[in-house]
Amino acid sequence: MQNLDVLINDSKLDPNLRAIALKVQANERISFDEGVYLYQHGPLAYLGVLANYIREMKHGDNTYFNRNFHIEPTNVCVYDCKFCAYSRLIKNREDGWEMEVEDMLDIVKKYDNEAVTEVHITGGVVPKQNLEFYADFFRKTKAHRPDLHIKALTPVEYYYIFKKAKLSHYEGMKFLKEAGLDSMPGGGAEIFHPEVREKIANDKCNAEQWLDIHEQAHLLGMRSNATMLYGHIEEFWHRVDHMERLRQLQDRTKGFQAFIPLKFRNKNSQMEHVPEVSVIEDLRNYAIARIYMDNFDHIKAYWAMISRETAQLSLNFGVDDIDGTLDDTTKIYSMAGAEEQTPAMSTQELVELIRNVKRKPIERDTLYNVIKDYTDEVFDDKKPQFYKLPVIN
Ligand code: SF4
Repeated sequence: MQNLDVLINDSKLDPNLRAIALKVQANERISFDEGVYLYQHGPLAYLGVLANYIREMKHGDNTYFNRNFHIEPTNVCVYDCKFCAYSRLIKNREDGWEMEVEDMLDIVKKYDNEAVTEVHITGGVVPKQNLEFYADFFRKTKAHRPDLHIKALTPVEYYYIFKKAKLSHYEGMKFLKEAGLDSMPGGGAEIFHPEVREKIANDKCNAEQWLDIHEQAHLLGMRSNATMLYGHIEEFWHRVDHMERLRQLQDRTKGFQAFIPLKFRNKNSQMEHVPEVSVIEDLRNYAIARIYMDNFDHIKAYWAMISRETAQLSLNFGVDDIDGTLDDTTKIYSMAGAEEQTPAMSTQELVELIRNVKRKPIERDTLYNVIKDYTDEVFDDKKPQFYKLPVIN
């Protein structure tokens, strides 16, 4: 808190940046133009002070994680997003995988004796994985393990599935909720503005369809997350436009839990020629997201995508959640060139990663109910984990 006062009283501070800092201190919302200004002129240290102030006002040192695993039912896809390193076109489907409901249930059953709380399901879009396919899987999963939270699919899959089933977004979401769906992850948002979306993800659901499916889920009492794929061909104002659309929907429904900036990774896609942004830009982006998204409770970083060390750093730039144990069940990040090629962390590793930067590790469930505070937990097998990075207070 003291740092924010020091910053505001610095006579050399750009007056526009001081005005934004005063708004943050007064818990006032910043405007679209101020968001763009932060991207254009906000130095990293300044942004870190503001974002950390908001993070600590909302959560103190609490840093959330969960115990989860992923199921990726297929990496074959009817769409052809230019940034996607993960999918195989239908015509090349023999290079990919397509699971049956029983294959997915076998994965769920592997965790029968483990304290996981969530299964996160996402992947490509293929015709046979339709409304009945997922309803069948959700019902069987809930019958087998009622306590497992099903966080599944994105508006990209739902838009396709509901259209085939001739259902409205509301009817489709209601049907799947009754089958066992609990909440939605935040994927498929990419960049909403058509100037960018039409170049990188032309054929899948558009911004209005993505937002409407989340709105219908919220109206049904479900919670969801939202992502933004940044650091490719978009300009700064496209990022602010993206966040603005989410902020407006959140004002209406309050159904979003976390905002998750996703770094564009350039390996193995049709956009390999587009350079990746630096870690500095990653941290600036987390911080601006924390400042701009005033009505989102949580800013999340996927450690598996940005590396463990950057995830530790991000905790001083507005991030309060670093996702879950994963157990090497996702290929989305590794296929796009992330440092983590077999992403998995034990609870002990996640806890120590957080404790080593002087934050409090809190295990949560999907809905952010606290399961356990690991601040003073003593593990039997005490081995040093990861770098001890400097803490910016
Ligand atoms: S990003 Fe998703 S919708 Fe787009 S091609 Fe990849 S799997 Fe398909």
